[in-house]
Amino acid sequence: MSDLLHLLQHPGTNPKSFISTICSTEIVDGHTWVELSESYFYPSGGGQPADHGSLECGDGTFSIENVKKGEKLLHNIGNIDSDMIVFDSPISASIDADRRNLLSRMHTAQHLISAAADELFSGNTIGNQIGLDKTRIDIGMEDRSKFDKESLEQLVNENIEQQIPVTMSQENRSNLTSNPLVRVNLDLLPKNVEELRVITIEGRDICPCAGTHVSNTKEIGEIQINKVKSKGTGKLRVEYSLV
Ligand SMILES: [Zn+2]
Repeated sequence: MSDLLHLLQHPGTNPKSFISTICSTEIVDGHTWVELSESYFYPSGGGQPADHGSLECGDGTFSIENVKKGEKLLHNIGNIDSDMIVFDSPISASIDADRRNLLSRMHTAQHLISAAADELFSGNTIGNQIGLDKTRIDIGMEDRSKFDKESLEQLVNENIEQQIPVTMSQENRSNLTSNPLVRVNLDLLPKNVEELRVITIEGRDICPCAGTHVSNTKEIGEIQINKVKSKGTGKLRVEYSLV
């Protein structure tokens, strides 16, 4: 099983190039997916899209346009002739920093919006899909009439202006269960995982999370809530972008 080395890094912005080797390949639907000896690429999951980037391998450069985690961490290098792939030889791997930085800003904004929705309206985040242009969060609320777009946007933008540090730590789940800033249901996480990677926005939110984040809320910039729509009884979909 491949280790997810991005989990060791915080902040998740401006990822550095790294040296690795190609261990194995798989062909799926005509595309070649490679497993690396070590990788800091973020695979799609948890509502955050995968990193993009490139591998310099022998005389060729391969673009990576998807990364997925299964039994192995696999990087999609497209429709490549397998003769071009050099195994067990050092290659230089680069992650698209502009894409990663934008996704990290969007993702950290999601933590602030989920926290503010809980605080203002007792709204419970039940799903999200982070994007480059827009991100959506599904919020469960018993009484949807409590929702107010302006107050949500205002509180989040105040938190951004307050320049609040965003930190990473490893925490035992038993230390999190009674903390009111922990808004996720820890029972939904695998029972056998005792130590959790936790992202804290000081005084605002504490969340077990495997995504990538900025180091201070000021890096998010301003957010704008574009749309709020019904997704059925007791559920709203909030769509926002970075200004
Ligand atoms: Zn997160």
